[in-house]
Amino acid sequence: MKFFFPDSQDLVSPAYDFMRDEYPAHRVRQRDDRYAHEVLDHAPYHGILVSKSIVDGSIKGAGKYTTAQRARMHRMGVHKFFRLPPGVEALGDNGAFNYIDEPTPPVTPAQTLSFYEECGFDAGVSTDHVVFGFTESTDGEDANPDWEARRRLTLRLAEEFMSLCRDRASEVEPVGAAQGWSPATYADSVRALQDMGYQRIALGGMVPLKTREILASLDEIGGVLKSDTHLHLLGITRVESMDDFAALGVTSFDSTSAFRQAFMDDRKNFHTPDRAYVAIRVPQVDGNPTLKRAILAGHVSQTEAISAERETLKALRAYDGSAASRRACLDRLEEYSLVCRTKKSYRDAYEETLAAAPWTRCSCKICRDHGVEIAIFRGTERNKRRGFHNMSVLATKMAQLKSHRSTNG
Ligand SMILES: [Zn+2]
Repeated sequence: MKFFFPDSQDLVSPAYDFMRDEYPAHRVRQRDDRYAHEVLDHAPYHGILVSKSIVDGSIKGAGKYTTAQRARMHRMGVHKFFRLPPGVEALGDNGAFNYIDEPTPPVTPAQTLSFYEECGFDAGVSTDHVVFGFTESTDGEDANPDWEARRRLTLRLAEEFMSLCRDRASEVEPVGAAQGWSPATYADSVRALQDMGYQRIALGGMVPLKTREILASLDEIGGVLKSDTHLHLLGITRVESMDDFAALGVTSFDSTSAFRQAFMDDRKNFHTPDRAYVAIRVPQVDGNPTLKRAILAGHVSQTEAISAERETLKALRAYDGSAASRRACLDRLEEYSLVCRTKKSYRDAYEETLAAAPWTRCSCKICRDHGVEIAIFRGTERNKRRGFHNMSVLATKMAQLKSHRSTNG
């Protein structure tokens, strides 16, 4: 089972000063900042997934890339741009979620393939249009006609994409996009794509589906799946179901969830192989809009806020695992949260995090280098590093899967 990380230009600054919370002087982001595969001992993924609409922009406006980055990506190619180590695959797609509201995709199969070829992708997903509906009923009576129209359009685009690949003798490995709105229609899409010659098929539109619905679809696909066809799940993690997915022909998936939970989830911020812990929130006085407003309005003294923030960080850095120092951390955290007027109390969750001190037991390079800083929810440098750590935990968990062992010896 292979894991792909969808790129959103998430980098960290290797020389960031955690004590002063300062970037190095003369930092040049693109030259100095590092991707997850550059700050961990091993790339925590088998490949990256890069969407054309993130690079080139789409209907909704500019992508995540600046004009200069976009030009560099086209000039240098995707492998050099990301400084990918050998063996890490670059997979492209259109980023169809960016034009989900349009009647038809604003991009043609020819433009899609040209993007993959110009940037030197190893493989690329055919142009697709996401179906956002699902029913398990077999007669399809409750299906919206637009769902079927989008599914059929996706198949026509895949056919055109494949014939372009053949005409141009493209070096990009074609991956057929399968859309569907029921187990039977997913199976029909896979059958049609195999008939067109696709040996690798990406299943789209499954993100909102329940695990049971994904399994029902995979089960139905199993009825038509050739033994040499590889299935990729777009945007799905659910590690607990990975062995079941693998048994039904899935060989790869992509997801941002392990990374994003580090700073988007309310509780599951710091992952370990057994469970996730809450990260300890110590917002920056400078970077906290609510706190800044309260200071400006005269409700909070700035000096008091800065001193509470400093004392909290000091206590966490001095934490030695003893009950007394745990209590000191919790007290400082509570004082600071009163200054910040945080409504929610995390005290019990923080106690669990501190008692477990999972960063002391993690062997990833990020935890080895930065220790407790990674468990602190504060600013992009700590939060993204914790996301990278989570991805390395995901890689470990995947290496322990039955499906991984059986396909990788
Ligand atoms: Zn770690």
